[in-house]
Amino acid sequence: MNKTYQGSCLCGQIRFEAGGFSQQAAHCHCTMCRKFHGAAFGTLVGVSEFRWLAGQALVREYRADNGTSRLFCTNCGASLAFRSKGAPSDGLEIAIALFDEPVPVKPGAHIYTRYQANWTLIADGLPQYPEGRGE
Ligand SMILES: [Zn+2]
Ligand SMILES: [Zn+2]
Repeated sequence: MNKTYQGSCLCGQIRFEAGGFSQQAAHCHCTMCRKFHGAAFGTLVGVSEFRWLAGQALVREYRADNGTSRLFCTNCGASLAFRSKGAPSDGLEIAIALFDEPVPVKPGAHIYTRYQANWTLIADGLPQYPEGRGE
């Protein structure tokens, strides 16, 4: 059996696990990620073998005008996940910060940096893309 990686929201009532990670993790500076995370940028990663372990009834989905969805905990407000427009219900990208143990993920880029907050300094040497990565 493969190792799985567990994560949880701020209040701990929502718990989940994932078995694998996309190699395309990136720090996203777009306005929506900034507001959703309440942070300078959001770092999300696609996952495989994902399942909710607890608290799924507390998960709420916010769908923006552009068709993208963001999932959050209705009890503590923690930002959980992102789903691009038209993605299947299991096509989630998870906020990496929610994992409760080290995960084998290395974000490889900063994206949507044309929306970067003026109080943020990017100094990690990763490639920067004004919009999406264009993969
Ligand atoms: Zn919560
Ligand atoms: Zn974004």
